[in-house]
Amino acid sequence: MEKFIESSTVKEFCEITKLMYNKGWDERNGGNISCIIDEEKITPYLTKNIENVRQIKLPFNVQELANKYLLVTGTGKYFKNIIKNPQDSIGLIKIAKDGSYYEILWGFVNGAVATSELPTHLMNHIQRLEVDKEHRVIMHCHATHTIAMTFSHKLDEKDFTKTLWKMCTECLVVFPDGLGIIPWVVPGTEEIGQLTAEKMKDYRSVIWPFHGIFGAGTDLDETFGLIETIEKSAEVYTHVQSQGGIKQDITDEDLLKLAKGFNVVPKSGYLEVGV
Ligand SMILES: [Zn+2]
Repeated sequence: MEKFIESSTVKEFCEITKLMYNKGWDERNGGNISCIIDEEKITPYLTKNIENVRQIKLPFNVQELANKYLLVTGTGKYFKNIIKNPQDSIGLIKIAKDGSYYEILWGFVNGAVATSELPTHLMNHIQRLEVDKEHRVIMHCHATHTIAMTFSHKLDEKDFTKTLWKMCTECLVVFPDGLGIIPWVVPGTEEIGQLTAEKMKDYRSVIWPFHGIFGAGTDLDETFGLIETIEKSAEVYTHVQSQGGIKQDITDEDLLKLAKGFNVVPKSGYLEVGV
């Protein structure tokens, strides 16, 4: 599969991870991405006998994802290095037919394995695919202003969402479903995976307090755009607070007009208007 490195799939992955690093969201080995790749994008690169395929056992069964291909970041790998040496930092894995392990088909050439958050990613892929057949990407990063807001803003899903909706006019259009928030949990555990997946029934983005954002989407661009919009709004909030706080904002009635104008449905019960 050596030629896979030249594929548009790997190129796009490298470009997005570079952008994320440049935005300051993925210091050191912070952050991780997994992207389900449709088989037709893999087939042209598949060679009959891939030598020395490593098999890595999964901590629980993911039968729902059997035979799926995923391009994922590696554990301990730095986002800043992905574009320089993708075959070292990222890997193409295939979930086994029985869902109990994955095989590394390409990448991770120096012995790495998939991100330690892979179990969380897989649980969330399963959850999102149940509600959205087009779902493909899970992206986690340490978006600076969003993390800061988890210290200074009330950690209530409705309040947090509405503050962000009001910081930039088009936010409501990008995430009308709002943001889920889980309690602080040790990363890489089954607990954080389960709590996040529970939220992913209703939300495409979940805030991990004092840690970062966990986002889902149909492709890398869309998922990056979702996180970028949330983070931009959190950045505006940071400036507003440093300028002395909110004196006026977009009213709930105006948000409703916006939703109607862009044909989106805001999270039920969030806008205080007679609907
Ligand atoms: Zn993290």
